[in-house]
Amino acid sequence: MTTVVDVGGAAEVLARHREVTVLCHLRPDADALGSSAGLARALRAEGVTVHHSFDPGTVPDALRVIPGTEHVVPLCDVPAHDGLVVALDCASPDRVGDWERLTEAAAEVLVVDHHRSNPGFGTHLLLDPDAASTASLVLDVLVAGRYPVDADLASSLYAGLITDTGSFRWGGPGAHDTARRLLAAGAESRTMGFELLDAHSFSWLRVLSQLLASARLEADAVGGRGSIWLHVPHEVVVAAEESDVESLVSHLQGVREAWVSVLLKEFRPGEWVVSLRSRDGGESGVDVSAVAAALGGGGHPAAAGCTLRGDLDTVSARLRELLG
Ligand code: AMP
Ligand code: MN
Ligand code: MN
Repeated sequence: MTTVVDVGGAAEVLARHREVTVLCHLRPDADALGSSAGLARALRAEGVTVHHSFDPGTVPDALRVIPGTEHVVPLCDVPAHDGLVVALDCASPDRVGDWERLTEAAAEVLVVDHHRSNPGFGTHLLLDPDAASTASLVLDVLVAGRYPVDADLASSLYAGLITDTGSFRWGGPGAHDTARRLLAAGAESRTMGFELLDAHSFSWLRVLSQLLASARLEADAVGGRGSIWLHVPHEVVVAAEESDVESLVSHLQGVREAWVSVLLKEFRPGEWVVSLRSRDGGESGVDVSAVAAALGGGGHPAAAGCTLRGDLDTVSARLRELLG
C-alpha cells in the first residue's frame, strides 16, 4: 500500500533512517541526477550512509558538472539493506532498475516525482505534477526537514530546475521562486547553464548538420498542426555522446511548421528510445504524454518518452497513428 505524503511527510520518512539508497531513472537527465545528488549530499551531511546510483551507474560525461555525481556507484554495487530506498524523478518502477532486489529488503520506499503519468508506487509517495522539477520538490523536502542547503547542494538542484523548465520557459512563478532560493543559497548558474544547455564538441557540428538535413516535416499531420521527425541510427548513436543525441530534440522544437517533434534514437539495434515534444501540452495543444503512455512510456503533456522495438517504419507508423 502506498501512503501519499506532502513535503513534511517526506522529510519525516527521511529522518527515520540511517542507511538510504538514493536512486534516479535510467538514462538520467540533469533533473534525475541533480535532485538525487542534492538529496544524497543533505543526508551525508547528517551522517547517514548513502548509496547513490541509477541503472547501470556510469554518469554521462556531460552531467559530471553536477556536484555530487562523483559519488555515484554502479547499481550492482548497491547492497540490499533494511533501511530506506528513495526513487527520484522516476515515473514508474521500471524506470529505476533492480527494483525488486533493492526494495524487498528495504523497510520503507519513498518516491518523489513530478510526472503526471506516475501511477503511484513505493510505501510513501510525494507526487506533484505541478512541480517544475523533481529538484524543486527535493528543495522543499529539505527545507521542511531543516537540512542545511549549501552552495554545492543548491547547484545540484539548480541543474535539474534549469533543464526541466527549458531555461524557465515553463514552470511558472514556482520555478522562479525555487531559482531565487537556490541562487541565494549559492547555486552556480553560469557554468551549469553552459555545460548542461550549450556545450558540445566541435566534431559534433558535422554530425549535427548531417542529421538535421535528414529531418522530415509532415506539415499536415497532427490535425494540421504539423510534426517534425528525426531518427538517429544505431551506428550514429554509438559514435556520439549521449547528451549530444539527447539534445537533438531541442533543434526540432524550434521548427515553426511543426507543433509536435518526434526524435527516435536507436540506442540498441532495433530498439528505439523515443522523445516526444509538444509546443503546448496544455488544453489547446497536443498531450504527448498520452501518446507515450499508450505505448508503455510516460512523461509530461509537453515532453514525454517511450521505448519501441521494431524496424523504423513500423515504429514510426505506430506513433503516427496515435498522434493523428
Ligand atoms: P526525454 O524525451 O527522455 O527527455 O523524456 C521526456 C520526459 O518524459 C521526461 O520527463 C522523462 O522522464 C519522461 N519519460 C521518458 N521516457 C519515459 C518512459 N519510458 N516512461 C515514463 N516517462 C518517461
Ligand atoms: Mn528526468
Ligand atoms: Mn524531471
